[in-house]
Amino acid sequence: MSVMMKAAVIEKPGVLTIKNIQVPEISDDEVLIKVKVTGICGTDWSIFTGKYSADKLPMVAGHEFSGVIVKTGKNAQNLQADDRVTADINMSCGICFYCRRGSKLMCKDFTQIGIHTNGSYAEYVKVPWEQVHKLPENLSFEEGAFIEPLSCVVHSAKAMQADLGSSVAVIGCGLGILHGALAKLRGAAPVIVIGDNEMRLNVAKEMGADYIINTNEVKDIVSEVRKLTEGRGADYVVEAVGSVATYEKAFEMVRPGGTVAAFGITGGDETIKIRPFDLVLGEKKVVSSCAGVGNDWNESIKLLEYGRIKPKKMFSMEVPLEELQAALEQLRTDSKLIKVFVSPEINKRVIF
Ligand SMILES: [Zn+2]
Ligand SMILES: [Zn+2]
Repeated sequence: MSVMMKAAVIEKPGVLTIKNIQVPEISDDEVLIKVKVTGICGTDWSIFTGKYSADKLPMVAGHEFSGVIVKTGKNAQNLQADDRVTADINMSCGICFYCRRGSKLMCKDFTQIGIHTNGSYAEYVKVPWEQVHKLPENLSFEEGAFIEPLSCVVHSAKAMQADLGSSVAVIGCGLGILHGALAKLRGAAPVIVIGDNEMRLNVAKEMGADYIINTNEVKDIVSEVRKLTEGRGADYVVEAVGSVATYEKAFEMVRPGGTVAAFGITGGDETIKIRPFDLVLGEKKVVSSCAGVGNDWNESIKLLEYGRIKPKKMFSMEVPLEELQAALEQLRTDSKLIKVFVSPEINKRVIF
């Protein structure tokens, strides 16, 4: 193996260069993975533009990946070269108050591969062996790279605990599509997905939504959701956009006693207006979720392996690593794209 590899390095906000850097050296507790594909996530745009992780630059982003093991540290168990794998990106200290309670996402040393440390927009990525998950044979590398975003939605769905026959409204039709699909799997009825993109809303419908609401056509989404829920509002509302306006709508459209699941990420300083009155007398609740972690990964793999979630309808295209920046930009403007993958192993675009 050559000691240099091709990587997409975000040098500083807005500056991404494809260049040769050192292949990561692994410790006894790590494995080296030859990257097959990486899914582009909204977080990558935030890192590229300097909204997140500006203090970590220069850095190689990329956290939704799959690949093949090429080298294992001597402590790695049950893993060997040529294993097809993905990896839980969440790392923590393991010994603090939160880690000992099993809440590693709250650890003050919490870091994510590809968000705080070098990730997979490169030919190789290294990860701690304990975080590696083998891919079932019937999963493609693209599906393998989709386990991370699915695990985030699974984490949120488990926090929300929608009951059989309960109504679920999802605001947002990016990962909102998956929230709708999981709500359907949990037996929710009706499942309502709200968004501003006709094509994505149609995919949401194909993947399980009973109703779709296009905000370009329906101005008052709160009364529309009430109309579909006997005037009460939804039992559960998932906010999967990450804007102040949609968070406020979520609290308006959830019924008294219902639950809002906070999923979309707003700016760190943004605040929303909620009436404490609605929380006390209306007993409205909030559940939160930061990322998919631990068993969320195993469960996501099972959902894909047994076809409970069939994400291919969300897969738009795969581009060479050299086109990462172009793809990041295109995702901002091209409403036909949902999930775009990047591969260091191809030299022209593949449209799915
Ligand atoms: Zn992501
Ligand atoms: Zn900790």
